[in-house]
Amino acid sequence: MGLTEYKRKRDFKVTSEPAGKKLRSTKKIKFVIQKHAASHLHYDFRLELDGVLKSWAVPKGPSTDPSIKRLAMQVEDHPIQYGKFEGTIPKGEYGGGSVLLWDKGEWIPEGDPYQGYKAGKLKFTLKGEKLHGAWALFRVRFDEGSGKSSWLLKKEKDTYASKKDILKMRPESVKSGLLIEDIGPKRTRAKKPSVKKSK
Ligand code: MN
Repeated sequence: MGLTEYKRKRDFKVTSEPAGKKLRSTKKIKFVIQKHAASHLHYDFRLELDGVLKSWAVPKGPSTDPSIKRLAMQVEDHPIQYGKFEGTIPKGEYGGGSVLLWDKGEWIPEGDPYQGYKAGKLKFTLKGEKLHGAWALFRVRFDEGSGKSSWLLKKEKDTYASKKDILKMRPESVKSGLLIEDIGPKRTRAKKPSVKKSK
């Protein structure tokens, strides 16, 4: 996919999101999850692959309960640098709203991730600050028109599986410790009125 669609959707003069470019992967490959209070709250699940962050919008967020599958709508690839972004996208811009860095770490694919991605079947281990252990992401529908696809995100059974709601237990940012409602638009300082003192 590359970053063409990512760049087309954004005005980097207005938004503080990174313009970004393709990067070569390092040994450890990153994953991030960003909680995004856009017009509809969702969690953006991103896996580094081929110099970009492959991205899925997960409306209900990840669940650590293996009996729960969460819909993950694939969205455009994002630049690697996006994985550090936390802040507010201005109103009226694409995805306008607050973005909180909810989890980050390393993902370890089982087998060849390129083949898995192409085939729509990814199995992997997450070593995050909140999410751990074995997960699976598999494609269930592909829309030829938009080139977009629906996937399901699911926790695999292991010792990290839990019926507790991680989204409620750990709502804070792994970057700032803030909650989504505390990440507001940057306040601009009110200008001091230039009134001359009269004697
Ligand atoms: Mn989003």
